Amino acid sequence: MSTAATNQASTTTKRDPVFDELDFPSDPNNLYTQTVATMLEAADHIDIRHRVKIILAQPKNEIMVHFPVRMDDGHHRLFKGYRVQHNNACGPYKGGIRFHEDVHLDDVKALAFLMTMKCSLVRVPYGGGKGGIKCNPRELSPGELERVSRRFMSAISTMIGPDYDIPAPDVGTNAQVMAWFADTYMMSQESGNSNDGLRVVTGKPVQMGGSLGREKATGQGVVDVLVEMLPEEGIPVEGMRVSVLGFGNVGSWAARILQDLGAKVVATMDHTGAIRNDEGLDCHALAEHCVKTGGVKGFGASTGSGGSTAKGAEAISTEDFYRTPVDVFIPGALEQMIKEEQAAMLDCKVVAEAANAPTTPAGDRLLSERGIEVLPAILCNAGGVTVSYFEWVQNKQCMYWDEERVDRELNRHMVMAARRTMLARSRYQTNMRLASYIAALEHIANVYEVRGIFP
Ligand code: GLU
Repeated sequence: MSTAATNQASTTTKRDPVFDELDFPSDPNNLYTQTVATMLEAADHIDIRHRVKIILAQPKNEIMVHFPVRMDDGHHRLFKGYRVQHNNACGPYKGGIRFHEDVHLDDVKALAFLMTMKCSLVRVPYGGGKGGIKCNPRELSPGELERVSRRFMSAISTMIGPDYDIPAPDVGTNAQVMAWFADTYMMSQESGNSNDGLRVVTGKPVQMGGSLGREKATGQGVVDVLVEMLPEEGIPVEGMRVSVLGFGNVGSWAARILQDLGAKVVATMDHTGAIRNDEGLDCHALAEHCVKTGGVKGFGASTGSGGSTAKGAEAISTEDFYRTPVDVFIPGALEQMIKEEQAAMLDCKVVAEAANAPTTPAGDRLLSERGIEVLPAILCNAGGVTVSYFEWVQNKQCMYWDEERVDRELNRHMVMAARRTMLARSRYQTNMRLASYIAALEHIANVYEVRGIFP
């Protein structure tokens, strides 16, 4: 998975002395090492203190738990779960929990690190964390999924808290899983059903303290960044052609919102297949199709039924998907999907990284050589955690915002983060990824400067 936010266009090949000091593995393919390398490269541009570099180079806490769960057939299966608390200088640890077969400690560490950077870049008062359970949620029955969720929360409940570490949804988890997490946490506290316990998790269902606008927030944030930055690239949103990799929460919301703004989403691909319509897919109908069938496959065939006005789509190959000419390509699926091979096929002007760390170092280098601008993940996909922050504030105040206010405040955070990134790029003459890291690091370094190091 994630080579997480490595600076793929980096020219630095020499190993930073911090790695030897901290006894990092010398394997250049180690995912976490690559992530930290990007941070160290950005840090060099702004002359950050050595102590901040070594603090950020390792997570504060790495929690690993094993827990048994009774399966529907009566046997017990042992699951492995993680919670990595990377940094809390700017506020409580914050970040999602994913359920996926490929969850490994180094990936969770890299993703937790990216949360620290993301929260700093959009200036929400949080640090970074991430968690995961190694499992395939599609293979679990609803009852098994609930027992896995509750048992994991019970295993980590003493190590998180509404003012200490606040989980949220990520790949393979959703609002229902957050409801089970919050309920389990609250039941395990002495205060029982106290409303304050709700704040331990964000991304909850609206009926249970969730925020309006949270479900679409990551996709909305991607669009806010594009609307702010595309004029720089000379691409008008109205009429622009887009392709989207992954049509889950992030990809489908970004696609629907872009379509509503007049863009044409001409191709998409997920784990079930790839489809194209040069006139523009009906992304609202496609999202409904995905809910019903589990993926984009067969969209063209099923349209028109039940009074649907959806336009059709043709099934295409993976290669044709990547080669589809577009203005903007949005990878909104998993980490490391855009390797050299995919980067060579892409026919676009801009890549907007909606997923966490979707581009490998080699892929990124090639995109840069080909003159394709990459809008980095810590900027593009920060909308989710930003609205998580709004949810947490609303829970704290027991007062709820309308969706218009959520969208307006989100837009303000995203636009400011985009401008910070562009400013750092012109000030330090770097690519966009390093610029986003610099803008994030400057804030963290300032916080450490005034806080100092205990004792
Ligand atoms: N999992 C999301 C992310 O990677 C959201 C995290 C959150 O809301 O805390 O940004």
